[in-house]
Amino acid sequence: MSWSKQRIKLKTPEQIEKMAASAETLVAVFRAVGDLVAAGKTTEELAAAVEAMIRDAGCIPSFKGYNGFPAAACISVNEEVVHGIPSARKLQEGDIVGIDIGLIKDGWHADSAETFAVGEISPEAKQLLRVTRECLELAIAAVQAGRRLSVIGTAVEEHAMGHGFSVVEKLVGHGIGRDLHEDPQVPNYRCFSSPDPVMEMGLVIAIEPMVNQGTKRVVTAEDRWTVVTADKSLSAHFEHTVAVTADSVQVLTRR
Ligand code: MG
Ligand code: MG
Repeated sequence: MSWSKQRIKLKTPEQIEKMAASAETLVAVFRAVGDLVAAGKTTEELAAAVEAMIRDAGCIPSFKGYNGFPAAACISVNEEVVHGIPSARKLQEGDIVGIDIGLIKDGWHADSAETFAVGEISPEAKQLLRVTRECLELAIAAVQAGRRLSVIGTAVEEHAMGHGFSVVEKLVGHGIGRDLHEDPQVPNYRCFSSPDPVMEMGLVIAIEPMVNQGTKRVVTAEDRWTVVTADKSLSAHFEHTVAVTADSVQVLTRR
C-alpha cells in the first residue's frame, strides 16, 4: 500500500458541499435503478438507463472511459465481485446484482454501490447481503476525526468473519474528490502495516466492503475487468462516499 500524508487532499467545507451535491444526484440515480432491477432485464439495459439519468442530470459518468471501461456502471452478478462489464446477460430470479456507479458534477466525484436481490433469493444470499450492508454501516460508525484509518478494515473484517464470510483484500476503498481515486487507500481488512493515517476533518473517502461467502481470493476474468471469486461463491459489495466534518461524519451518498 502506498500512501504519503502529503498526497491526501483534504476538502474544505465548501468543497464537501459540492461533493454532497454530486452525491445527491447519485442517490436519485440509485433510487431509480433499484426499481429497474428485475428478472429478464439485461445488465446492459441497466447501465444504459444509468448513463441516461446521469447525463439528463447534466453530470458525467465517472467510470465510462476510465482506463477504458466501456460503461457508466459496473454491474456484477453472483460470483462476480466488482467491475462487471454490462452485457446482454439477463438477470434471473434468485441472482444478486452489484451495481456500482460514480458521477461527476461540477468537477466533483461521488461513488456508491449497492447489491440488489433479483426477486426471491436464497436465505444464504440474504444473509450475505445483510452482513455486507452491516459491515459498511459498522465501518462508517468507526470513522471519526482523530482515529486511525485502520479502524475501518478492523470493523469490516470482524463482522464479516464473525458470520463465516471472508473479506476481499485485493481491492480497497479510496479517497475521492476531483479525482475518482485519491489517497488514501482504504482497506476492508485488518491491516497493521504503516502508514496508518489519522483521519482528519476534510477527509472524504469511499468505503466499499466486498464480502465473499467462501474464499477471499479473487481472480480477474478473461475480459480483463470482471473480478470473480476464485471458488465461484457469491460476493456482495456496498459503498458510500463519506466525509469527515468538524464534529461528525457525513454519509454523502446515504439514500
Ligand atoms: Mg464504486
Ligand atoms: Mg469506489
